[in-house]
Amino acid sequence: AKSAGGNRFELADPEADARAITRHGLTTALPAALDRGEFFIEYQPLVHLGDGSVRGAEALVRWLHPQHGVLGPDRFIPLAEHTGLIVPLGRWVMEQSVRQARAWRERHGDAGPLRINVNLSPCQLHHPGLVQDTVEILERTGVTPDALCLEVTESALIGADDDLLKPLRRLAEMGVDIALDDFGTGYSNLANLRRLPVSVLKLDRSFTRGMQQFPADPVDLKIVEGIVALAHSLDLAVTVEGVETGAQAEQLRVLGCDTAQGWYYARPGPPERLHELALVDAAG
Ligand code: C2E
Ligand code: CA
Ligand code: CA
Ligand code: CA
Repeated sequence: AKSAGGNRFELADPEADARAITRHGLTTALPAALDRGEFFIEYQPLVHLGDGSVRGAEALVRWLHPQHGVLGPDRFIPLAEHTGLIVPLGRWVMEQSVRQARAWRERHGDAGPLRINVNLSPCQLHHPGLVQDTVEILERTGVTPDALCLEVTESALIGADDDLLKPLRRLAEMGVDIALDDFGTGYSNLANLRRLPVSVLKLDRSFTRGMQQFPADPVDLKIVEGIVALAHSLDLAVTVEGVETGAQAEQLRVLGCDTAQGWYYARPGPPERLHELALVDAAG
């Protein structure tokens, strides 16, 4: 293997070769995979930090590849974005997830409405059919817009002009929640937040990592405290990602965060798992 010298030697690197071949193979297999139904969705619960109740779930897509087994989104979402397949794939994810939300609501109507969070890639945001597609999915499934939350990354909205924000504003006016995902990783101007049609901040895992030990890093605590205060002053709810321990959950609760998501509560899993979690929750 080479150590330095630049791209000239890259083709002689067998591992890089294999990666490129796999990437190419996966890219060409993507469209047929959607037709064949090789994608599936796992759901990870969103838990209210105050009372521990399950409030909803984030939909996370996976690909059951006939040769490579289950592939995570980091392996194929960038390829789908590159080829444009992300638009039909994203539409499929949204429809499946909203149908699932309806099923949860039908079963747990009294236990409080369960909501569904769906990730939107920047390509979907730029696609002119976004609002229409969303409206049609909600109509087809008979689900009210307040059951849906669309997650858009902070980096996708940095420097966004009005043309890009317009569809999000439309959706927000309809009652769909917009969450700013991976917040804190994009170096955005905090004052800019006021301009965005978002109602939820999702604090990136990099902030919660420093709270795995008790007592937590005091600088991390100060930063999260400041973000929560700012968010609440702008009427935004704060969700924290990557909560892996009870100590983290407790510190984030004390800091005033609203909801949490992470392995401490549940790993992403099949939809039946949400039924069980919500049932346990409703029972006690
Ligand atoms: P994300 O939106 O930041 O999603 C959270 C990721 O953190 C998920 O990885 C989840 O499994 C993982 N996670 C959750 N709790 C914990 C925890 O306690 N500890 C740790 N270490 N990790 C945790 P996943 O499922 O591999 O998804 C990766 C990314 O792929 C997502 O990051 C999202 O950006 C993207 N993605 C997933 N599904 C979709 C989709 O349907 N459409 C689009 N456009 N992107 C998607
Ligand atoms: Ca997300
Ligand atoms: Ca995130
Ligand atoms: Ca993240």
